[in-house]
Amino acid sequence: MTAPAATIAYDELADAIRGDLITPGDPAYDQARAVYNGMIDRHPAAIARVRDTADVISCVQFARARGIPIAVRGGGHNAAGLGVWDDALVIDLSMLRSTTVSPADHTVRVDAGCTWGDVDHATVAFGMATPSGFLSSTGVAGLTLGGGIGYLTRRFGLTVDNLLAADVVLADGTFVTTSADAYPDLFWALRGGGGNFGIVTSFTFRCHHIGEYGTIIGGPVLYDLADAPQVMRWYRELLPSLPEELNGWIALLTIPPAPPFPEHLHGRKACGIVWCYTGPHEAAAQVLEPVRTFGTPLLDGLQPMPFTVLQSAFDALYPPGLQWYWKTDFFNDISDAAIDVHAKYGAQLPTGHSTMHLYPMDGAASRVPHDATAFAHRDGGFTGVIVGVDPDPANAGLITRWAQQYWEELHPASAGGGYVNFLMDEGQDQVRASYRGNYDRLARIKNRYDPDNIFRINQNIQPAGGPAR
Ligand SMILES: Cc1cc2nc3c(=O)[nH]c(=O)nc-3n(C[C@H](O)[C@H](O)[C@H](O)COP(=O)(O)OP(=O)(O)OC[C@H]3O[C@@H](n4cnc5c(N)ncnc54)[C@H](O)[C@@H]3O)c2cc1C
Repeated sequence: MTAPAATIAYDELADAIRGDLITPGDPAYDQARAVYNGMIDRHPAAIARVRDTADVISCVQFARARGIPIAVRGGGHNAAGLGVWDDALVIDLSMLRSTTVSPADHTVRVDAGCTWGDVDHATVAFGMATPSGFLSSTGVAGLTLGGGIGYLTRRFGLTVDNLLAADVVLADGTFVTTSADAYPDLFWALRGGGGNFGIVTSFTFRCHHIGEYGTIIGGPVLYDLADAPQVMRWYRELLPSLPEELNGWIALLTIPPAPPFPEHLHGRKACGIVWCYTGPHEAAAQVLEPVRTFGTPLLDGLQPMPFTVLQSAFDALYPPGLQWYWKTDFFNDISDAAIDVHAKYGAQLPTGHSTMHLYPMDGAASRVPHDATAFAHRDGGFTGVIVGVDPDPANAGLITRWAQQYWEELHPASAGGGYVNFLMDEGQDQVRASYRGNYDRLARIKNRYDPDNIFRINQNIQPAGGPAR
């Protein structure tokens, strides 16, 4: 039985934790409930800005005893806004920001409130990185638990393929450290199964030396949008022949009206590939030769830079608070039919921030068996995301409709399912489709670790045999 939010004595929780407890009426409340996606406007019962694992345990026990829904916030980047929920207790991990690199072991231990910028800052100082995403402001926790697709995917696999251990507060308030040898079922489920199984308070990742002591060669190469069909055909043929040290994701975009883009290109629609070469620089000229000699680019931004610079290159273009709506699919290939749809909807990009990305999933990520981790899509190909974005709330409908219509037409060319970290509120069938044959095993593990579905504000895996919620 859940007590009405107003009658719950949150003072008791405030006294129990070292962190701050923020409730409605507190001057910090509106700022604390805001997440990255400006479309999300939820009013939690309270927000606990925890300071340590003990605080997390106190929060879980408090909420559980009173039947209060729990929302967990890592980086707050989830576009569906799953880090905040109406009438829930939000366990906000954003104060837990410590990182510890072990250069000798090639590992980094990361607190669950870190962003990827925190991690890259820590590891690139040692010439190393662990696979993450394409933006530095994204939270480590949510990205990792859903899989983790980024610049190093072809070479070193998904983020979860480099997860060595995790500290977890379980639904009954107990604490475990899980790895391949400890609670292996839980460890399997965490690697793609999202926040369904517990609250991770720290992650340990394997790191890899990249580039020349962390300096890679990367950046965007942009072509006129009219060239998109030729660029996409060339890219799909070229990619399998490229060494895994070279990653490149393809985008349809509007060239931003800001430096470093030259003024004459501002606002022009384009097809771009953002390259990242992490191999030895002495081989770069040869590896990059096909890229350098193809077509007539509007702009060639390929240059040496610290990995941290590439990772944060798009942060300023996408600050927190914009309206976001996106749709995802996995693709086994970039078919001619799909290219026709991309050309059509690329020409109709509804706002300057709206875009479409295809991320390669081949190489190391595709060599991991589909049932080795919860992340099931290991067929190579691409993860696609159609991204409607705009600062103006009045355009929320416009960007949503464009993304939905684009997706409807493109979906028949897809491999089915979609990346859970790019889902909005598509519902249970889509979650199941995303996990493919791994869903039933996930549901059994959910039943073992969270039979009452305490952790349900996520892309939810329902406990096998448990109550439908
Ligand atoms: C601009 C942008 C760029 C992105 N780029 C990439 C990318 O390059 N590659 C990629 O793979 N993904 C990318 N994503 C998707 C991203 O992985 C997801 O949005 C992810 O959920 C963000 O994690 P977070 O911790 O910031 O989110 P939050 O909103 O804090 O949380 C997301 C979900 O994870 C759960 N969760 C968070 N922390 C914990 C924890 N410690 N323990 C248990 N559960 C937890 C939450 O309950 C919630 O369900 C991007 C998203 C955005 C908005």
